[in-house]
This record gives sequence, structure tokens and C-alpha cells, in this order.
Amino acid sequence: VEAQFMSIFSSIGENVANSFIETPQQENQERIDFKKLYINLKDAESILVRFLGHADVVEYKSHSSWEKSLHNQTCTRKNGECAYCQAASYAKDNGMEDWNVYAKSRFLFAMYDLEKQEIRLFNASKNQAKVLFSTISEYKDDLDTTSMKFSRSGNKTETTYTLAPQLRIKDKKIQEAFDAASGLKVDEKTFEKALIVRTFNGQVKHLKELGFPVEKVFKNEIVTEPPIEVKDIKDDDLPF
Ligand SMILES: [Zn+2]
Repeated sequence: VEAQFMSIFSSIGENVANSFIETPQQENQERIDFKKLYINLKDAESILVRFLGHADVVEYKSHSSWEKSLHNQTCTRKNGECAYCQAASYAKDNGMEDWNVYAKSRFLFAMYDLEKQEIRLFNASKNQAKVLFSTISEYKDDLDTTSMKFSRSGNKTETTYTLAPQLRIKDKKIQEAFDAASGLKVDEKTFEKALIVRTFNGQVKHLKELGFPVEKVFKNEIVTEPPIEVKDIKDDDLPF
């Protein structure tokens, strides 16, 4: 399962990079209600979902550091330059350990929320993704007939997410929602639109705002680009 998991995701990761090239700008993203789109559970919360396919997941790379208030910034290295990668590399060479912000894999899972009756995304770390992917694969042949309870338990580093198949749906409305979702498919654009991708200058400006000594690394960059304004999105809203 392990090997299969890796091979499936790496090819999908390439597709993500291609989609960055096609839509490098942020035009769509300001219209997206990220709070609605992303599943953000608190400790002991759960939702009922239906999986519309057994591989509705994409991998991408992102930069994060709680210490530096750098939250889930999409890595653009596959599409050319990435200022966060360059900053991390400079930090490594110059002993700035607090700026060790190299890119890590994140995974977006698409699920159909049976209460809200819409496709929503969950942003998972690699370890969380392994568990989710393994459960989805295990029930791959039953996804068209089986709803899943998606739950969170614990906080911070103790947080775990689980998917539990439900033997039956007790609520009539949920059953109706489940049936109505038959035939729905997850569009690649759902994933594309869900990521905030800054331009290189935007990344440099962002690093400057966070206190990184940008003038040492990005001597020729003009950091006058206005910040991306995304309404309805706060650090607390996103589960990563
Ligand atoms: Zn990067």
C-alpha cells in the first residue's frame, strides 16, 4: 500500500504544477469562500461525507512556520522560482535556523459534504494523508454505497483525523443527499482554485512583512506589489 500511495501521488503532483502555469494569477481566488470550501473540524467534531472517487486527492508543496507566522504558502518552484525556497536555502547557508522553512508536501482531499451538499476540501499533512488514503483505498469498491464519518480528535500534535464507514444512514435527508450525489465527479479546477499562489515579487514582499532580511537575498526584486487580499480567510480558518 505504501509504494502504491507514493506512486499515485507523485504523478498527480506534476499535474498540480501544470495547473499553476495555466492559471498563475489570483483572479478567481478572491471570489472563493475558503471557509466554506475547506473542512475545518475542531476537536471531537465530525461530518458525514461521501467520496465521489477513490483518488480525489492532489499533492502540492507548501511553506509553513508557526514561529514566523508563515502559513501554508504554496511553493512555486516547479513552476520556476520560489522566494520561500530561496529564503530557506539562504537561511540554511547562513545559520538562520529559525528560517528553516523548506517546502513540505501537503495533500488536498475532495469529499462531498452530505449536510452542506457540496464538494469540500481537506488539507492534510503527509502523515494524515497516509491514513486517509489508506481508508479510502480499503473501501474503494463500496464508496458508491457507503457514507463515511470524518472525525477529528485531539489538538495540536496529538490531532488525528479518521474516516469511519457507516453501516447505514439513519437520517432521511442525509440519505437523499447521498443519493443525489451519484454521478458527481470532482473537477480538477476545484483543486486549482483552492490554492493561493503568490507571484515571485508577492512572495518576496510577504517574506519582508514577516521579518525576513529580503534585501540580502533578493537584491533586484521590486517589492511594491500589493498584498493578495483574500476575504474570509484567516489563519484560524484553515486547518494547516
Ligand atoms: Zn518553494
